[in-house]
Amino acid sequence: MALLEVISLPDKRLRMRAQEVETITDEIRILMSDMLETMYATDGIGLAAIQVGILKRIAVIDLGEARFQTAPLKMVNPEIIWEIDEKQVVPDGCLSVPDQFAETLRPKALKVRFRDENDRVQELEAEGLLAACIHHEVDHLNGVLFVDHLSPLKRQILVGRV
Ligand code: ZN
Repeated sequence: MALLEVISLPDKRLRMRAQEVETITDEIRILMSDMLETMYATDGIGLAAIQVGILKRIAVIDLGEARFQTAPLKMVNPEIIWEIDEKQVVPDGCLSVPDQFAETLRPKALKVRFRDENDRVQELEAEGLLAACIHHEVDHLNGVLFVDHLSPLKRQILVGRV
């Protein structure tokens, strides 16, 4: 296990689209364990591989407090296959946008399909904070940050022109 360095704005890699993982190797499994360790060390609840400078479609999530039974969640190639139209206001923040927080609108519920660390396809229905967190992490894999969901003025106050 190792702590990884989390990159932050204005690092251009955060704006890139991460690539699909073809084969889930031991290297990928170790990466996911290291990502979780890094996330716990920084008090995060979700982390995408792109945030540690690895442009692969991988994300880990742990909301803590046993809010859902599959914790921690390790997702390879996560894909949102359904989301409800109804939105929720969530307090959003990101380890790659240090010390900045704002409310964003995220879907209230969604369904995500991904491969787990044993290369099994999983589908998970999520609502509330978990849905918001999955949405946030899948955004990362497409180069999208939470500040992109804010008005241009709010975004500029938070992070300047990025
Ligand atoms: Zn983030």
